[in-house]
Amino acid sequence: MSSFVYTGLPTRVVFGDATLPRVREEAERLGISRALVLTTPAQRAQGEEVAALLADRAAGVFSGAAMHTPVEVTLAALEVARGLSADGVVAIGGGSTIGLGKAIAARTGAPQIAIPTTYAGSEMTPILGETEAGQKTTRRSLEVLPETVIYDVALTLSLPPALSGTSGINAIAHAVEATYAADANPIITLLAEQGIAALARALPAIVAAPDDRRARQGALYGAWLCGACLGAVGMALHHKLCHVLGGAFGLPHAELHTAILPHAVAYNAPAAPEAMVRIARALGVSGAGDAADGLYDLAGAVGARRALRDLGMPVDGLDRAAELAVQSVYPNPRPIERAAIRALLARAFDGERPAQP
Ligand code: NAD
Repeated sequence: MSSFVYTGLPTRVVFGDATLPRVREEAERLGISRALVLTTPAQRAQGEEVAALLADRAAGVFSGAAMHTPVEVTLAALEVARGLSADGVVAIGGGSTIGLGKAIAARTGAPQIAIPTTYAGSEMTPILGETEAGQKTTRRSLEVLPETVIYDVALTLSLPPALSGTSGINAIAHAVEATYAADANPIITLLAEQGIAALARALPAIVAAPDDRRARQGALYGAWLCGACLGAVGMALHHKLCHVLGGAFGLPHAELHTAILPHAVAYNAPAAPEAMVRIARALGVSGAGDAADGLYDLAGAVGARRALRDLGMPVDGLDRAAELAVQSVYPNPRPIERAAIRALLARAFDGERPAQP
């Protein structure tokens, strides 16, 4: 085994079914006496439920969380927090809502409880992405890492099957890239394999029967492990492409990850053979060459749209996307070559089976 560095992240995790009522004792543990509960407009009722459970430790509900953490939403939430003398935040929702909690913590140092209801994994990372005037910036700091995460399987039962499938593959993408990260380490690689395996087993079962609690439990557990991978090691080509395409063309986050992942893996396969064996094994397919195909087939099995054209990508955007993807230098197992990236994007645009570009 070669030498490596591993840094453990200090999040307390409460995992299970019907764990939500523990939110009050977790707030008390963190010394939060007036929590601002955060949600999207669609999840307002869930926010009210959390406020009721917090009882005397709730200050109010802010239900304006939005995709990509716009700074103007954060400023509005901060004003509400100040008006209510809030001393902590409880974010219940997907990556958008958890992102708002992190943005508030970054500006105030407020302690956070994150209660994820999708599989995106933001709750386990010290990463905050924000948008201002159409520009997305990302920072990494322990200040934004939630102190406590409550995973409640019951909350994921309402996640629509289609979103469950793509959100779960978004999580798998974190673990896939962790297996070939420049700063990969054996601990995170263990989590990555387990996370991929748990989600790959659970997602098709959830799409077939969305209220299958056993499958929901497996998926949420897998999402936790995959989120931990994202928080611990650096990501590569796949995340770069999704960042570029999401930012430039406003494509939907989880579906975009699902469409790109098989192609990014096919691109990197020749430069990361050991990682490919691990990914294939976790997916339950056979050899190294099967990792990309296995991911493409998993996306098909959950009924996801696999063509960027169907997600709203304009055909005349392919050249620009390839240009943006090669502009900055970042670690990736295989060197980034413009012509090959352009070919990768063309296949993803048409939703074709992945091939090594
Ligand atoms: P999201 O948070 O935008 O949620 C999508 C929609 O689904 C919202 O309307 C939400 O209210 C609804 N929803 C969520 N859970 C539900 C449930 N259980 N039942 C019914 N509806 C539900 O989507 P997401 O994919 O979770 O997060 C995407 C965002 O998170 C992006 O902005 C992405 O950049 C960010 N993200 C950040 C990190 C990080 O580490 N910083 C990691 C992953 C994702």
